[in-house]
Amino acid sequence: MRIAIAGLLHETNTFADGLTPYAAFELKGANPGLLKDREILQTLRGVSMCTGGHIAVAEKFGVELVPLIWTMAQPSGTVRHEAYIRLRTELLDKLRQALPVHGVLLELHGAMVTDQCEDVEGDLLQQVRSLVGPRVPVIANLDLHANITSRMAREATTLIGYDTYPHVDFIERGEEAANLMAAILKGAVKPVVAYRQIDLMIGPPRQCTLQGPMADAFKLVHELERQAGIITITLAGGFPFADIRDAGVAVVVTANADEALARRTADELADYIWSRRQDFRVSLTPVREAIDYALRAKHGPVLLADGSDNPGGGAPCDGTVMLAELVRANVPSAVVAIIADPEAVARAHQVGAGHQATLVVGGKTDARHGSSLTLTGEVRWVGEKEYVNKGPMMTGMRVSMGRAAVFVVNNVEIILAENRFQPFDCEALRCLGIEPRERLLVGLKSAVHFRAGYQTMAAKIFELDTPGIHSPNLSLYTYRRLRRPIYPLDEIPASHCPIRA
Ligand SMILES: [Zn+2]
Repeated sequence: MRIAIAGLLHETNTFADGLTPYAAFELKGANPGLLKDREILQTLRGVSMCTGGHIAVAEKFGVELVPLIWTMAQPSGTVRHEAYIRLRTELLDKLRQALPVHGVLLELHGAMVTDQCEDVEGDLLQQVRSLVGPRVPVIANLDLHANITSRMAREATTLIGYDTYPHVDFIERGEEAANLMAAILKGAVKPVVAYRQIDLMIGPPRQCTLQGPMADAFKLVHELERQAGIITITLAGGFPFADIRDAGVAVVVTANADEALARRTADELADYIWSRRQDFRVSLTPVREAIDYALRAKHGPVLLADGSDNPGGGAPCDGTVMLAELVRANVPSAVVAIIADPEAVARAHQVGAGHQATLVVGGKTDARHGSSLTLTGEVRWVGEKEYVNKGPMMTGMRVSMGRAAVFVVNNVEIILAENRFQPFDCEALRCLGIEPRERLLVGLKSAVHFRAGYQTMAAKIFELDTPGIHSPNLSLYTYRRLRRPIYPLDEIPASHCPIRA
């Protein structure tokens, strides 16, 4: 038995400046770069990614894996179409050489966009399908933030998305995909798929599965999955920072040889999501209000989530609005993780640890995340840093900060890094000797993923109302290609059917 495996992951924020080049997929920073052939097995075996799950199941059953390519670029702006075509060609060439294979397992994101293609995963699945033919099962794992299109659902045998946000079930979903592949190849099941798209977009904070309407929705997903005849259900919250026709919520129900059951179940879930649409609206807290709360708090850490500048959703991670307020308020013990600013890092390295310095910090990528701050303080540490995630998300993945520095202004420790990455794991602070439990206030460039590492220690969490291209206030964006009407941007006329196959 030979199964091809591959991965191509990018969450494309079409509101970000600039195009994402091929080099972004090769970059070894928060991600392992562009892996080929056996490197994929060596790097991802035991790592909490879906491919880690594919490998674990295959090796348990003694299945031969044919690794093709695997890459995940940091979320960023629209991908250069040539970059995608080059990656696609590398993947398909290796697949062609590997033929015949019995099945294909893919790890995709589901929200990748190029300057010529709104539905990259739909295109890739179609290409893979045309190479292997209609009878070879092709199963793709997807992110919970996938913008799933009808083409993706049609071309794949089935799609299996994460059930969690923070994403802590990569391995389980990868194992689920690989186990399903095994069951299909044994002839034990015959998957049929029903797809429903909902005219609804949800800001990331309300997609969190730990609480609120999304927790309720996944409770229903799991109940429906226990029905006889249902194989698996994917509910994708979608990625609203993509100005494409198909952005938003979708469901995919996979049943065993029972199309009517798949359709009925997809309708039930889609109707439920639509009925809860008002509960998915996001409310945010002004920075000053959150800081005032922290100043009155007896103990910390009070967590401030600067989700609008979340690098995990393509934002620059050098926004200064939260930082400026923290410095101004002179909070007695605060840390900001991280400001991605290679220039400020270089300057801190010139000055050296233990010295006073005036640095121009942040606000260098664009004008939408606050302007640069000229700050005087102490360079407490400089160096190059790498850590391994120890929390529940992407456990075991190595993250390189590149060159970094800790710059202390008033009582605010600012972690400056050359690389841009989301500090969802506490190791981002601890590797620098900063214990978040001992700080009154922790400011994080993260919308929801930080909850994986920090939620249990938090005295209080605030989701900040800051400007940026990952702000969940969706009325701030100008959409040109998105289908309309869509909730919450538009009034939905009674005559409009908000759910379609
Ligand atoms: Zn995601």
